[in-house]
Amino acid sequence: MIVRDVPALRAAIARALEAARHVGHGGGETATESPSVGFVPTMGALHEGHRTLVQRSCAENAVTVVSIFVNPTQFNNPDDLARYPRDEARDVAMLNEAGVHIVFAPTPDVMYPPGFNTWVTVDGVTDVLEGEFRPGHFRGVATVVARLLRAVRCDRAYFGEKDWQQLLVVRQLTRDLLLDIEIVGVPTVREADGLALSSRNARLDSTARTAALAISAAIRHVQESFAGGFTQTDDLEQRLHASLRREPALTVEYAVIVDAETLRPVKRLTSPARVLVAATVGGVRLIDNGPVGSIQ
Ligand code: AMP
Repeated sequence: MIVRDVPALRAAIARALEAARHVGHGGGETATESPSVGFVPTMGALHEGHRTLVQRSCAENAVTVVSIFVNPTQFNNPDDLARYPRDEARDVAMLNEAGVHIVFAPTPDVMYPPGFNTWVTVDGVTDVLEGEFRPGHFRGVATVVARLLRAVRCDRAYFGEKDWQQLLVVRQLTRDLLLDIEIVGVPTVREADGLALSSRNARLDSTARTAALAISAAIRHVQESFAGGFTQTDDLEQRLHASLRREPALTVEYAVIVDAETLRPVKRLTSPARVLVAATVGGVRLIDNGPVGSIQ
C-alpha cells in the first residue's frame, strides 16, 4: 500500500501492527515480544542493493516500511537532482513482490511543509570526503533521515555500507538525539564484475561502465595488498592511486584509506580502516568503499 502523508503512514503502521498481533508474530520474533517495525529509506530507482536491505528488514521485523523520496535538500548540484532516475510504478511493484507492507512516498511539501525551519547538522564525521566535496549534502541527509525516522517511529532502520559515511552520520545522529532506533548496516551488493550497484549506474553508457569498474578493482587491489603484507597507509594509498590512474576516463575526487569510524588519517593499519573512493565517469559521480585493516 502507498501512503503519501504522515497521518496516513502512521494509521497504516498501526493497522499492520494490529494485524501482526492477531496472527501472533512475524519476522523472527517470539510471541511474547510486541511486533517490531523495520524501515528502509530510499530515493527510489530500486535495485538489488535496495532489495537486500528490504529482505533483511522483512526477515527481522513484523512490519516493514520503505520510503521513496528524492530529497532535494541533499543535492548540492541541481543538475544531478534533475537527472536522478525515477520510476515509482516499477519500484512499488518490486516492493510488493518483496512483501513490503507499506510504501511511504511523500511529496516534498510533506517532508518540508511551509514554515519548516529546523535543520540537523552532524559535526565531525561530515568534515571530510562527501562533506567536503558536496557542501550541504549531509545537512540535507541528516535532516530528512531524522524526520523520516520520527515519521515512521521504527524499531530498526536499514542503511547500506555502500554509503559508508552516511551510515556513520546516521548512527551519530541517532545516538545524539536519543532516537532509540537500531541502525543496521548492510554490506554493499555488487554486480558479478565488482561494480557496486547504484541507481546512478543507469546513466552509464557501456564505455563509462567499463571505466567505472576501475573503482572497485582499485579497492580490491588495496585489500589484496594488505593481505599480502602491506600495512603502511602511505604505501597502500600510492597503490590505490596508481590503480585508479590506469583508467584515464575516471576523474578521481578523493581516494583515501582512513579510520573506519572517525574517517581520520591513520599511519598504519592496525585497527579497522576503510578505503573510500569518489570519482566521476561519463558525467556520472560514483562512490564506493571497502574494509581494510582487519576483519570487519
Ligand atoms: P539510495 O536510494 O541511493 O538513497 O539508497 C537507499 C539505501 O540503499 C541507502 O542506505 C544505501 O546505502 C543503500 N544502498 C544503495 N546501493 C546499495 C548497494 N549496492 N548495496 C547495499 N546497499 C545499497
